[in-house]
Amino acid sequence: MKQRTLVLLKPDALERGLVGEIISRLEGWGLKIIAMKMIWMDEALAERHYAVHRDKPFFAGLVNFITSSPIIAAVFEGEDAVEVVRRAMGETDPAIARPGTIRGDLAQDIERNLIHGSDSVETAKREIALFFSNAENFKLPRGD
Ligand code: UDP
Ligand code: MG
Repeated sequence: MKQRTLVLLKPDALERGLVGEIISRLEGWGLKIIAMKMIWMDEALAERHYAVHRDKPFFAGLVNFITSSPIIAAVFEGEDAVEVVRRAMGETDPAIARPGTIRGDLAQDIERNLIHGSDSVETAKREIALFFSNAENFKLPRGD
């Protein structure tokens, strides 16, 4: 089914000049960009976005990292977009992410793992609303 999902390109993606490479890989899976912007997340937004991890030992480090520099936020659309992005990303820990995945090929460690992708359709709805207004989610003229 056609879905939308939120993608964040984390600070390491921008610092290492991997934005184009990552977007290109996602487009290669047939996903279309329908919203995109560069933003500097503040602590409040980071804490809301990662609320599910609030009690985890890595939470403070995660919020600190994601707010350490500007990032790219984007909405990708396509058939099974949530699952397709998750497969393209690979496992959270690059050490076990498979070759051919973004994290497996390019990421450095479990914190600096380049990319966020929503983990379900419900999560995607919530996360997209945190970053984009309805008017910012464009409908492609020939979006099939
Ligand atoms: N993370 C971390 N240390 C850990 C586990 C997770 O720094 O031990 C970070 C990592 O950047 C990850 C994010 O927290 O991408 C969110 O964790 P989640 O389990 O949701 O992984 P994801 O959905 O990003 O694969
Ligand atoms: Mg997650």
